[in-house]
Amino acid sequence: MKITPIKLINSNALQKNKNNYVNYPNYNYSTIQADCINFSGKNKKIEYKIPFKIYYSNPFQDAKAGLISPSDLPKKEILEYSKYFLPCPCCGDIMIPPQLMDTIKTKITDSPIDSIELLKNFQNFMHPVEKQVFRILEMNNKKYPNLNFHDILKKKYQRAERQLVLQQMSILSDIRLFSRDNLTNEHFNKVSEIIEKAVNKIFNKDNNETFSRKLFIEEIESFSSIIEIQKYDPKYKKALTQIVEKAYTLPTSYNSIHAFIVKYAKNKYTHKSIAERLLSGSEATIEHATPEYLGGKTISSNLINECARDNHSRRHDDIIQQIREHPQMPDNMQKHIDKLIELSKRNKVNKSYITEIAMTYYNLSKGLIDVDLSKLWINSKNSKNQNINKQNKNQDRTSTKAERREIRKLKIKRKKAEKRKYITTSKNSYAKRIIKTICKR
Ligand SMILES: [Zn+2]
Repeated sequence: MKITPIKLINSNALQKNKNNYVNYPNYNYSTIQADCINFSGKNKKIEYKIPFKIYYSNPFQDAKAGLISPSDLPKKEILEYSKYFLPCPCCGDIMIPPQLMDTIKTKITDSPIDSIELLKNFQNFMHPVEKQVFRILEMNNKKYPNLNFHDILKKKYQRAERQLVLQQMSILSDIRLFSRDNLTNEHFNKVSEIIEKAVNKIFNKDNNETFSRKLFIEEIESFSSIIEIQKYDPKYKKALTQIVEKAYTLPTSYNSIHAFIVKYAKNKYTHKSIAERLLSGSEATIEHATPEYLGGKTISSNLINECARDNHSRRHDDIIQQIREHPQMPDNMQKHIDKLIELSKRNKVNKSYITEIAMTYYNLSKGLIDVDLSKLWINSKNSKNQNINKQNKNQDRTSTKAERREIRKLKIKRKKAEKRKYITTSKNSYAKRIIKTICKR
């Protein structure tokens, strides 16, 4: 756990202690007050007097001890934070605020050329599969300007279906072989039966009964839940879970371009719905850290912004399972929290909420998501810290003119890069206009 100084009585402290937070894993108290610190060796006693006071605080402990008052934010207000273009805590991609998504939806027309022009502005918000699909649509739109998105996907259907079936069959065969080697005969036969049914649907000639990934997973799950697990050893139990996990690796329109094309080339999807779908997975939604299904409450400490794709594909997983599927999640959570902290400096985000949500994820992930909150307490706009900033500036003056120029250039470069990253469409005046009006609200 990272411990953070929350109050520096004497600003000299920072000069002497540049890395102004310490890692102190076995720390049990909420705050300590240090006038001096004694270091005792075996033979001699050395005393260091430190001429300043530092209060160390562990925000997690503070929250537990009730020292940080709960933010009690309504769900709507937390979702409102997304208008500042937060990175998704799960995948790290910048999310589209719901207000912007609504505006985009109203602008999508039945004209393929207009849709391409509109979506081009928001390309950088798309997830990888959607981006690939968009490129196909864009290329084909140049060749066949009159074909709508649905018709273009239909042209690509056959090839995509072949690729998709290959992917699906390889996973189904894997499940079957795994069951043969790890389950009893009776259970293997049952799994084989479910797979046989699925294969028949995949190769079905009429369109009345097509294969559904969701139904297949449901069948596998209900099969493994019926088995009286007490009768078997833990290894057997693990094998059953592995089968369910394998079933979940079947491609979806969110992770396979072939699955996307096959799904949306079918009749019920219109041009407009496909255009919307290219962005809808990136829309910010409210995620319950502990799912409602598992008893999670709709209170601010349990709510976080997450992209629609990751929210919906999470099912009822707990956080540990979610991290297993998204190994980058601890890093992305840090990105999310850093952005919230940056906003809290401008009083756009409630500070207590940041601590609460960090604590929730720390607890639920059993310490795997251990974000650094030290920035929450430093460089804030109070006078003491301004003092520190001044001192830092003075330190800068010791460098040569050329070095200072170099630093200035780098700073400008970094600022520009950040702008590009967060408002990825800033080059385009139209997107910029929409984004600006939403940010103002
Ligand atoms: Zn995401």
